[in-house]
Amino acid sequence: MNIIEKIKNEGLPVIIFGAGIVGEVLYRACCTAGIKVECFCDNNINKTKKPLCDIEVVHAPCLKTKYKDALFLISASDIKDVVDQLQSSGYSRWYTSSLLLRDFDIYQYQFSAPIDFVEYAVATAILCQDNYSTPDKLFLRSVDIIITERCSLKCRDCSNLMQFYKNPVDCDIKELMQNIERFYAVVDEINEFRVLGGEPFMNKEAHLIIKRLIDEPKVKKIVIYTNGTIVPKDEQIEYLKNKKVLFIITDYGKLSRKLNALIQKLSSNNIAFYLQKAKGWTDCAKIMRNNRSIELQKEIFRNCCAKNTITLSKGNLHRCPFSANAARLRAVPDFKDDYIDIFDETIDINKMKKRIRNFLLEKSFLEVCDYCNGRSFGDPEIQPAIQIVKPIEYYNYY
Ligand code: SF4
Ligand code: SF4
Repeated sequence: MNIIEKIKNEGLPVIIFGAGIVGEVLYRACCTAGIKVECFCDNNINKTKKPLCDIEVVHAPCLKTKYKDALFLISASDIKDVVDQLQSSGYSRWYTSSLLLRDFDIYQYQFSAPIDFVEYAVATAILCQDNYSTPDKLFLRSVDIIITERCSLKCRDCSNLMQFYKNPVDCDIKELMQNIERFYAVVDEINEFRVLGGEPFMNKEAHLIIKRLIDEPKVKKIVIYTNGTIVPKDEQIEYLKNKKVLFIITDYGKLSRKLNALIQKLSSNNIAFYLQKAKGWTDCAKIMRNNRSIELQKEIFRNCCAKNTITLSKGNLHRCPFSANAARLRAVPDFKDDYIDIFDETIDINKMKKRIRNFLLEKSFLEVCDYCNGRSFGDPEIQPAIQIVKPIEYYNYY
């Protein structure tokens, strides 16, 4: 209550940073608490093209021209990036949103996403923001785990670089289990494990890997990304019936040929899912050396929307799927500072935690960024899921 009163009495315009679904919920929570919200702001220029909750969404880089000073309520989960950005823009007044979201009853309102997804997004934001203030703990918001290189679709512009694999294989289950055990030994808490391929269910043992992820108390959520072409078998579904599991199904129109059957199977087994259209793709899947200056690489990294998409691949922790898959493909040199070898036995667990924390918080660019087109918010969109027949050739810089 004190903080709510403080926000009201500051006399500064109140701006919600982040115009996603959590921002929407936060806006409703502010209205309920009697806090007047001036506007939203977001780094993604595409989100600024229309109002949200009937109020303006300002492009974050343009804030200073409109608001000399303001008070920010942060709805984003990657709170450190937002705080750094606000500070470098000369703003010093901000609050996390967890204090307002924690007791807010989301079920009284309708939002622009299904309630299962709203619940998941809000819980993620609260957990990430709470952990921001416990720096001794190794908490990870989200970790991708690649369980297969095979996909049932052949998208030319797949941002996970599946289009370049000539002989894609499923990841070896023994090796994956060892990776998972070791990873659990070094981290304290993980908000979500995202299970990816390619198409995860191309791997016939996907359910066994997912079961191991579910069974770990350190993990809050298991999110399975699938393309609506494969319906898991009944015996696999038994392993997936768990409150921690959320399917995110990308709807590729006619290409998602088993979409309805998949939805029916998940619904009848009470497995939560969220359906999203394939959209928002950008030209980010080229492997090509650009010879950029260090300053330019830092800028590409700073603006990249994928730089916190932590990916576990072959015992190494990467900052993004491009880095992980370019390494798997041996398309780029082995840049040892671009990833953390979680099996490195020359250091103890505490030092490993510290190394991972620094890797997540202190990196200002990756060497591999020079081989990537970058994924800036607001890059022009391209047509998603154009199918190809053969794998795409690439120059091998390894
Ligand atoms: S469905 Fe397309 S975008 Fe998704 S993993 Fe497969 S190839 Fe990549
Ligand atoms: S390589 Fe760099 S620019 Fe490319 S996706 Fe990864 S972090 Fe972003």
